[in-house]
Amino acid sequence: MAKIFCVANQKGGVGKTTTTVNLAAGLAKLNQRVLLVDLDPQGNATMGAGINKAGLASSTYEVLLGSADIATARQRSEAGRFDVLPANRELAGAEVEMVELENRERRLRDALALVAKDYDFVLIDCPPALSMLTLNGLCAAHGVIIPMQCEYYALEGLSDLVNTIKKVHANLNPDLKIIGLLRVMFDPRMTLSQQVSAQLEQHFGDKVFKTIIPRNVRLAEAPSYGMPGVTFDPASKGAQAYIAFGAEMVKRIKKM
Ligand code: ATP
Ligand code: MG
Repeated sequence: MAKIFCVANQKGGVGKTTTTVNLAAGLAKLNQRVLLVDLDPQGNATMGAGINKAGLASSTYEVLLGSADIATARQRSEAGRFDVLPANRELAGAEVEMVELENRERRLRDALALVAKDYDFVLIDCPPALSMLTLNGLCAAHGVIIPMQCEYYALEGLSDLVNTIKKVHANLNPDLKIIGLLRVMFDPRMTLSQQVSAQLEQHFGDKVFKTIIPRNVRLAEAPSYGMPGVTFDPASKGAQAYIAFGAEMVKRIKKM
C-alpha cells in the first residue's frame, strides 16, 4: 500500500513543484513505484514531468468531481519513470464546484484508495494556498513535506500551515503528520542561510530532513525540456541531492 505525502507550503515559489517532480524521479531511480498527483491548476508538475497540460482527456479536475477515476486519468512520465495524475487550469473550477458536493474534503482520498495498491509512494504537489484543493491533499495524506528556503521570512507563515495541519489532524485525518521540513535552494556561501538553517534545526529537531537541496541551475533548466532535473542531468548537485532525499524518504517510511 502506498504511503501518501503532500508537498505543501502556502508561500509561492518555494520549491514545492521542483521537490515533488524530482523526489518522484529520485524514488523511481530507487525502484519505487510512484504516482505524482498534480493538485495545482498551474499544472507545473505535469509539465515538469514531460506531459502536455493542454487538452488533457481527463485530469485531477475530473477525478475530484467524480467523472473519471485515477486509473483512467493517469499518464506515464517516460522521462521520470513514474505515473502522473495531470492537471491544468480547469482545476481552478473544482474549488468552486466542489462546494456543492458531499464529503468535499475527502474526494482525493477516496479516489486514491482505489489505486493505492499500485504504488509505494504517492506525492501530491499542492498549490500555494490553504484552499479546498490543499485541504483535499491534506485529507488524503499520511504526511506533509514542507519545502523551505533558508531566508529571513522563511518562518513567517509557517505557523498558519502548522495550525492548518493540526486542525486537519484533529477533525478530518488522524493519520496526518508533518514528516519534515526540507531546506531547498540552499546557498552555503550565505551566512544568513547557515543561520536560518541552524535555527530550523534548533526549533524543529529531527523534523528537519538531513538532506539539503542546494540552489542549482540545472534543476531550474530541466522543466523547459519536460524532464525532472534528476533525469536531465543526473550528475548535477541538485539531482544528487534529490536522489539522496529519495533514499532518506525510503528509510523514513520503514519507520512509519
Ligand atoms: P508555486 O508556489 O508557484 O507552485 P513552487 O513552490 O512549486 O511554486 P517551484 O516552481 O518548484 O516552486 O520553484 C520556483 C522557482 O525556483 C522555479 O523557477 C524553479 O525552477 C526554481 N527552483 C526551485 N528549486 C530550485 C533549486 N534548488 N535551485 C535552483 N532553482 C530552483
Ligand atoms: Mg508549484
